Amino acid sequence: MISSATSRKAMHSVFLFHAIKAGMDMGIVNAGQLEVYDQIPQELRDACEDVILNRRPDSTERLLELAPKYKGTGEVADTRDAEWRSWPVEKRLEHALVKGMDQFVVADTEEARQQFPRPIEVIEGPLMAGMNVVGDLFGAGKMFLPQVVKSARVMKKAVAYLEPFMEAEKAANNAEKEARGEAVEQASARNSSRGRIVLATVKGDVHDIGKNIVGVVLRCNNFDVIDLGVMVSCDKILDVAKAENADIIGLSGLITPSLDEMTHVAKEMQRQGYSVPLLIGGATTSAKHTAVKIAPHFDHPVVHIVDASLSVPAVESLLDPSRKPEFVAKNAANQLRDRTNYEAMQSNRKLVPYAEALQRRYATDWKNIQIDKPAFVGTRLLDNFPLSELVPFIDWSPFFQTWELRGKYPKIFEDPTVGEQARKVFDDAQTLLKRIVDEKLLTARGIYGFWPAVSEGDDIVVSIPGSGTTMRFPMLRQQWERPGQSDFRSLADYIAPAESGRTDYLGAFAVTTGIGCDELANKFQNELHDDYSSIMTKAIADRLAEAFAEYLHQRARSDWGYGVNERLSTDELIDEKYRGIRPAYGYPACPDHTEKPKLFKLLDAEAATGIRLTESFAMYPAASISGLYFAHPEARYFSVDKITRDQIEDYARRKEMPLSEIERWLLPNLGYDN
Ligand code: SAH
Repeated sequence: MISSATSRKAMHSVFLFHAIKAGMDMGIVNAGQLEVYDQIPQELRDACEDVILNRRPDSTERLLELAPKYKGTGEVADTRDAEWRSWPVEKRLEHALVKGMDQFVVADTEEARQQFPRPIEVIEGPLMAGMNVVGDLFGAGKMFLPQVVKSARVMKKAVAYLEPFMEAEKAANNAEKEARGEAVEQASARNSSRGRIVLATVKGDVHDIGKNIVGVVLRCNNFDVIDLGVMVSCDKILDVAKAENADIIGLSGLITPSLDEMTHVAKEMQRQGYSVPLLIGGATTSAKHTAVKIAPHFDHPVVHIVDASLSVPAVESLLDPSRKPEFVAKNAANQLRDRTNYEAMQSNRKLVPYAEALQRRYATDWKNIQIDKPAFVGTRLLDNFPLSELVPFIDWSPFFQTWELRGKYPKIFEDPTVGEQARKVFDDAQTLLKRIVDEKLLTARGIYGFWPAVSEGDDIVVSIPGSGTTMRFPMLRQQWERPGQSDFRSLADYIAPAESGRTDYLGAFAVTTGIGCDELANKFQNELHDDYSSIMTKAIADRLAEAFAEYLHQRARSDWGYGVNERLSTDELIDEKYRGIRPAYGYPACPDHTEKPKLFKLLDAEAATGIRLTESFAMYPAASISGLYFAHPEARYFSVDKITRDQIEDYARRKEMPLSEIERWLLPNLGYDN
């Protein structure tokens, strides 16, 4: 598949050229999509001819390799029709920033440096002006996230080029001052920034794609961002914010325990007398949760950020004295409304007693149902699994969400608003993905297995083969009676009860494609000043991990027997058209993250795959997934949602964990005030 516009045009022209020579006398063409044959660069023309005339066995690969170099509107194509190269240097820098092209940026920056008295003036002058254009276009919805991150890459290269000159200037100044006995300058050239923001993914959490995007976008808008990375303790965040005189603190997190950690940070800010606004973002966070659980603990603004792109207007409003009062008042009013709604909802919500929920469980005819027996019990390891086999299983739609482009793959490419950008970011992903696969830059490891299992009440009891021992997986049960609700589900309902006398099976898995991911991402970010590729690396690793989970589930269904003849397309797999489910701890049907160590023990997952669990039971590397397999033909995902104290007490007893501790981990599920 040739997806870049220049290569596509070249293919058309080469085809026509030869077809006409061979006698074709009529064709309908789009003249706008044609390149003059003679003007196609020699290497591209040769590669196209190799394909069209079938001149060599590896011609497709060679053309694919070349295609990214001749990206459509932008990049090489734009640099070739180089009218803009004759513009004044300020305009050229602006053009390069807006288009995200870095081919000439070092040369242009050098040219500008020679025109300005001081190197910092190049940053504060033309580069900043160019970034302001980017910021305005983005704010107006005329540029999209991937473009802004590419613009940032151009900016970073220019600044990196100027840095040694600024250092040299500072050293020279300081030497002079020292000679005159004056105080020497310490601060770096950051005095032009609009404000300083400390960002961190909270303790126990490892996800940072969203946070990194926010950092890039804020920097693009001339805010000074101190990014503390992942798994950052509250103390560290607050200490750095104080030492660096931060104007705003931003917290990010993906897994549910991070919600509680964010509340902890807010409480500490209150206790220690901080007054800077607190931003909250990340996949499990919400405006409602921020309003109900975090904002009440801190007397200063706590603002939920839905999208990276919305971080800019929020930060601008918070740091602009003329806009701040209105923004803060509106935020507070919305949060008050959310809290009121939440309380009303809590008191209207009908939770049936746990005993009743147990009685009205999802019922199966255990006498007659066919229970399939897996081909093996115990585990199987897939070490160094070929990434190329995972590529066809990738679900690309969430990839576009990461870049805040709305739409479903592949229809998104036809979207009049985001289609073009979606295509570009997708092409970039294909190029990097191919490199990752070819050069084996990431390592995939997975382990999965099956065990005889029965349910006892709401526990699933797994027999460990050969040892005569068992492991107990306590499950939670729905209690919220919604209109039309006929049963209250627990995952335990999908496993035959001990008293049925039947032997059922439970499966489990853990996969990672994140080994090598941080190294590669850091290389892009730190050595090559390329946040775009760094973020792209992580986004691709996540996609591969999900693809691995999908692949392995298919294999497990085949091993289990019932999926041997399944034959589903990728789309059908993504739509989960198969029998059985693979619920993941921390998700709504089994929200208790603290069960993960047991799952890991069952699989011996850490030793086998290298995936580790953090203190909040996030999996590291981030591109990792684990869960359980259920084969029950009626198994489906559900949400345990809010539950009552009597269930929590029973669960704590079954888990042998103090009540207060389990209440802390299940805070989002408590249907009562603890
Ligand atoms: N194709 C998507 C799949 C990921 S989300 C992607 O590539 O990103 C779907 C997964 O989330 C499921 O396979 C399951 O592991 C988990 N999940 C979804 N809903 C769940 C629920 N209610 N309870 C437990 N796990 C759930």
